[in-house]
Amino acid sequence: MKKPNLEHYVDAGKRATQWHADHKKRMKECKFDTIAVHGIYSMQEALDFNQGSTIEPIYMSASQGFRDSDEMEAALSYQIPTWCYSRIGNPSMYYLEGALALLETYGTDIDASCCATSSGMAAIYSACEPFLVFDKNNPTQEMNFVATCQVYGGTFQQFAVRKDEERNIKWKKVIDSSNIEEWESLIDENTRFLYGEMPSNPGQSFFDVEAVAKVAHKHGIPLIIDSTVATPALLRPLAYGADIVIHSVTKTMTTSGFGVSGAVIARKNLVSNIDNDFMKADFGMYIKALPNRDIGPNISPMNAILTLNDLRTLRSKVDLMSRSTMKVAEWLEKHPHIEQVDYLGLESHPLHELAKKYLVLVDSEYDDLYNEKVNRYGHLMSFRVKGGAQATRDVFDGLQRIFRATDLGRIKSIATIPAISTHSQQGEEARKLADVPANLIRLNVGAEHPDDVIADLEQALSVLDGHVIETSSPEYSAGGASSARLRK
Ligand SMILES: *Cc1c(COP(=O)(O)O)cnc(C)c1O
Repeated sequence: MKKPNLEHYVDAGKRATQWHADHKKRMKECKFDTIAVHGIYSMQEALDFNQGSTIEPIYMSASQGFRDSDEMEAALSYQIPTWCYSRIGNPSMYYLEGALALLETYGTDIDASCCATSSGMAAIYSACEPFLVFDKNNPTQEMNFVATCQVYGGTFQQFAVRKDEERNIKWKKVIDSSNIEEWESLIDENTRFLYGEMPSNPGQSFFDVEAVAKVAHKHGIPLIIDSTVATPALLRPLAYGADIVIHSVTKTMTTSGFGVSGAVIARKNLVSNIDNDFMKADFGMYIKALPNRDIGPNISPMNAILTLNDLRTLRSKVDLMSRSTMKVAEWLEKHPHIEQVDYLGLESHPLHELAKKYLVLVDSEYDDLYNEKVNRYGHLMSFRVKGGAQATRDVFDGLQRIFRATDLGRIKSIATIPAISTHSQQGEEARKLADVPANLIRLNVGAEHPDDVIADLEQALSVLDGHVIETSSPEYSAGGASSARLRK
C-alpha cells in the first residue's frame, strides 16, 4: 500500500470538514430541544470514532498524536481539522462549542462560531481584548469602550480596574441603558466596541438590543452582549444584530453547579474598526486559534462535557424555574416587610414592556402545553427589605433551605446580598450608580416546588414581625458589624 502523503491528508481533511458542515446544517433544521440534546454529536461519529458511545466522551488527553510527519505538518499548519493540544482545542470542547453556536443562532440563518473558556470572566476578557489593541493605522490613538454601568461585579472590576485604571483604556459608562441617545452620545472615533449586560445581574436593567446594535454598526463597531441571565432559551441577541454574545456558562447553562466555565459566541463577518481580517471573518475561531492559544484561558474537556450534559434540558428547566420565580415574586410583592421586588416579569417593573418584546420561551408555540408564544423572565430576581442593611442581614441569616452563596443559575435556590458580596469591591458610589442598595437580596429560584421556597422566605421574614423600621432614603453602604453595634 502506498504511504499517504501530505496531499492525501489535506484531501481527507477537506472531506471531513465538509461532512461536519453538512451535519451542522442538518442539526440547524431541528427544534431547540433536539439541538440541546444532541448538539453536533452524531450517531455516525459515535459509531465510527467513539466505540458507539451514546454520550460525548470526555477526552482528557492533553494532546493528539499523528500518524506520520505529513499528517503532523498538515495539522500544525491548520490545513486539516485538528485539535493538536488541549490548551487550544479538544474534541470534548468542540462538541460543547458546536452546540452553543447552534443554540445561540437558533431560528436564524446566522453563521456563528464559539470559543468556550474556563470562566465567564475569561469569556469577557477574550471577547473584549482583540478590540483593545495597538492600531497601526493610528498609533497615537486613545482607546475607549462604551458599556452599561449595571454589570456583574467581576465585570465591573475587569473594566474599571484592569482596563481603565491600570491601562488607561477608558470605560465610558452608560447610566440609563434604555436611553439609546445616551449610548450614541458616548461614542467617538476612539471607541472600539459597545458592551451591555441584559438582563443585568442583579438589577435586571434591560435595553433595546436591536436599537443599540444599529447604533454600533452606524459607527462601524461591534456590540457585545452578556446574555448569561437570559440564556438562549429566552433570548438570542445575535438575532437582533448583536455581534458577540458572552456567557458565564457556570450559571443557568450548568444548572447543576458542577464547575466554572464561559463562552464567546460570535457571528462571522462582524464589523470592527480594527484592521484584522481573520478576526472579523471568524471571531470565535480567531480567538481560539490565536490570542487564546497564546494566553491560555480556554475551557477544560471535563467542564465542557459537564456543561453539555446540563444543556440538554435547558428549555424545560428555564420554563419551570421562570414560572416558579414569577410565583415567588408575586408573593413577595404583597409581603408587608418588602419594600420593592425587582423582576422583569412583574408588571410593576418599569422595563416590563421592553422585556416582553425580547424574553420569549423558545419554541413555546410548538409546545403542546402552550401552542403560542409565551413570555418567560428567567430565574433571577431581587427584593428589598424594609428596615435597612441590618434588617436585611437578619432576614438573610434566617434562611434555612435557600443557600447563602454568591452564585446564581442553580437548580437549588440561592440568595446573596450583593452589597456585601458580588458588588462589595466597587464601593458605595458605584453601587449607587448601579442601584445595588444594602437592603437588596438577590434571589435565584431553583427547581424546588415554589411553595417550599415561599415557606422558607416566609419564616425568614418573620424575624421582622413587630419591629419594622421604615427608612426613606436607600442605604448603599454595606452595613455590617458597625451598624449592628449601633442597633444594640
Ligand atoms: C457570574 C457572572 C459572570 C462571571 O462568570 P464566572 O463564570 O463566574 O467567571 C459574568 N456575567 C454575569 C452576568 C454573571 O452572572
